[in-house]
Amino acid sequence: MKDLIKNFAKDVGVDDIGFASIENYNSPNTPPIKEIYSKAKIIIVLAFQQLDNCENENIQIASAGSKILSDFADSSTYKIARFLKQEFKATVISIPRMTPVNRDIKTGLLFADVSLRHAAVAAGLGCFGKHNLVIHPVMGTKVVFTAIITNLYIEPDSPIEEDLCIDCDICLNQCPVNALDEENRTDVMKCMFNCRPYGFAGYMQFWLKFTESTPKEQEIMLQDRKFKKLYDELTLGSQYVCFNCIKNCPAGQ
Ligand code: SF4
Ligand code: SF4
Repeated sequence: MKDLIKNFAKDVGVDDIGFASIENYNSPNTPPIKEIYSKAKIIIVLAFQQLDNCENENIQIASAGSKILSDFADSSTYKIARFLKQEFKATVISIPRMTPVNRDIKTGLLFADVSLRHAAVAAGLGCFGKHNLVIHPVMGTKVVFTAIITNLYIEPDSPIEEDLCIDCDICLNQCPVNALDEENRTDVMKCMFNCRPYGFAGYMQFWLKFTESTPKEQEIMLQDRKFKKLYDELTLGSQYVCFNCIKNCPAGQ
């Protein structure tokens, strides 16, 4: 069964696949998998290679790479989940790459129900680097994950033992907002404000200021480039502006 699933995933376009036992999934900020799905026996984690958009200095081009990959990854995940249902009569729950997620209404921070990073590590698809992203043995940090939780029992893979981070500290030294200063922790507020200035927090700030402004000031605000970027974020999806951690990590490549 495992080989059939692996072959199907490869045909669909998945770059790597791992099978995580529920017990090895150890994410401090998300609930145990059994609380999400009581019949869960395994987490199938799918890895997809990023293209090179993130290295482009044109921020629109760089951000577009994330969107096209998310679309492909989510669609591939659905195809594989459907294959498990049809071929093995499994029950399946898909965990997409990004949304929907919970949001802390005060800070605007996002909280996923399942940590795909921790699932990937549990599935033997890589290890954490100092940037707190997963380093895959071949794709390095240029990789994204989705997952399928299923009631099928499939022999799980073991987490890798090798530390793929080469301790170059590039990630620590290049962060413009010092979001990685504390070991094993990303200051998510600092990172997100820098990475996604037009996300939820930026959106709230804009409209709060708008309501306190005079009609003339409001007119100027609506003609400003920032308003256009906020609109793009709403209509086109996440608009990232910092890819340092992904593009500069030399590990695993
Ligand atoms: S940039 Fe260097 S220190 Fe940071 S995760 Fe990658 S290999 Fe490790
Ligand atoms: S993505 Fe950018 S802001 Fe976030 S931790 Fe990495 S360098 Fe810092």
